[in-house]
Amino acid sequence: MSQLIQIIYCSAAKHLFSKSELVHLLAKSRSNNLKNSVTGMLLYAEGSFFQVLEGEPEVVERLFETIRHDRRHRDVTLIIHEPIAERTFGDWTMGYADITSKEVDELLGANDFFGTEESFTRLGQDRAMKLLEAFRHGRWRVRLSDNAELSDIQDSTGAPDSSVPSAGTPSGLPPHPDYTFAFQPIVNVKNGTIFSYEALLRGLDNESAESILQHVEEKEMHRFDEKSRILAIEMAAKLGLSARLNLNFLPRSVDSSPTAISSILQTAKRCGLREDQIVLEILEREIIDDFDYFNAVLDDYRGSGMHFAIDDFGSGYAGLNLLAEFQPDLIKLDMELVRGIDYRGPRQAIVRGIIRTCEDLGIDIIAEGVETPEEYRWLHNEGIELYQGRLFAGPAFEALPVTYRMPG
Ligand code: C2E
Ligand code: MN
Ligand code: MN
Repeated sequence: MSQLIQIIYCSAAKHLFSKSELVHLLAKSRSNNLKNSVTGMLLYAEGSFFQVLEGEPEVVERLFETIRHDRRHRDVTLIIHEPIAERTFGDWTMGYADITSKEVDELLGANDFFGTEESFTRLGQDRAMKLLEAFRHGRWRVRLSDNAELSDIQDSTGAPDSSVPSAGTPSGLPPHPDYTFAFQPIVNVKNGTIFSYEALLRGLDNESAESILQHVEEKEMHRFDEKSRILAIEMAAKLGLSARLNLNFLPRSVDSSPTAISSILQTAKRCGLREDQIVLEILEREIIDDFDYFNAVLDDYRGSGMHFAIDDFGSGYAGLNLLAEFQPDLIKLDMELVRGIDYRGPRQAIVRGIIRTCEDLGIDIIAEGVETPEEYRWLHNEGIELYQGRLFAGPAFEALPVTYRMPG
């Protein structure tokens, strides 16, 4: 399987394009893109372009370079450049759509693309669709250039052109003397489904994660972390997991063990889970500590289909700055920010900023540690759809709860 990447950019047209001009513009490049296996989508609205390009890295990067120097537009702004597991527009090569046209409504509107079935398997790829949607709602629009230049230019606005077998683990709980797991649902209140379960380390008598971790020797930590995650996956599969599974990483375990991530993929496969069911939670402060390394590692694994969440977002020192360099699929809003959000102005201001930024970047937000109906109501009113917290359901010892409370 060859590696795929996706580039998404926006730009400002040098003049207002008519529909026929746009169609003409793309007609030429379409055959080229077909030949080079470049797929994607170009949107145009009132002088702004927004384009998704997908394909093999060298091809897409070369095309983007050409596009950047194409004089029909300016202010070319790179929004996303990262590996993808599969094409968003694989079998869909419409190429261009006017933002006002019906096709776009059909594509981006309330149809299957955002429906539960589709989007379940498309969390990562979904980002492209969410960004298109953000563009449609006026984000990423650039001002039309005043010095319209209509000179002839070369045509390059490229064209955008597993089944889940029953878990094969042995019956009975996977044997281990010292620890086990509890699972806490992450709820999608928009469609009333359980989005994921977070695996939380526990003692055999339901002791806290902390009480287990404090007995693990420092030099054993990484091995322990890797081993315990394998147990979490096996247990979730045996319990019949069909949603996603969120796994925590101990600080620094990704960069100290080359097998930390590959062992997850292997175990998931062995247990009959898909890669895209796995969400890795990494602490904000971890990522800043070894930023370049993290970006490289994560890019490798994005290509595998696994998803990434920044855990406890807002608790560290990086906050929104982190998103300048690293865009996960999800962020988990730190409990501290959530606590009392319904009456605390500064927290509200910060969270509004985070929500707006994540919308523009196609990142989903999970509000963590939601305890009161008032906190929930405030967050829901601001558009957050994913929740984890005692208000909905606490962690369940060695079980995947199928029900949760829905605040009034
Ligand atoms: P975390 O990853 O931020 O996990 C969320 C913690 O919040 C969990 O505590 C969960 O029980 C708790 N929680 C959930 N809902 C609420 C709520 O409504 N209110 C409050 N106050 N708390 C809530 P837990 O299980 O004690 O885990 C604590 C931390 O230990 C986790 O924080 C995580 O960083 C770490 N941890 C837990 N399990 C594992 C694991 O398997 N591996 C690693 N490496 N770390 C783990
Ligand atoms: Mn976590
Ligand atoms: Mn957390």
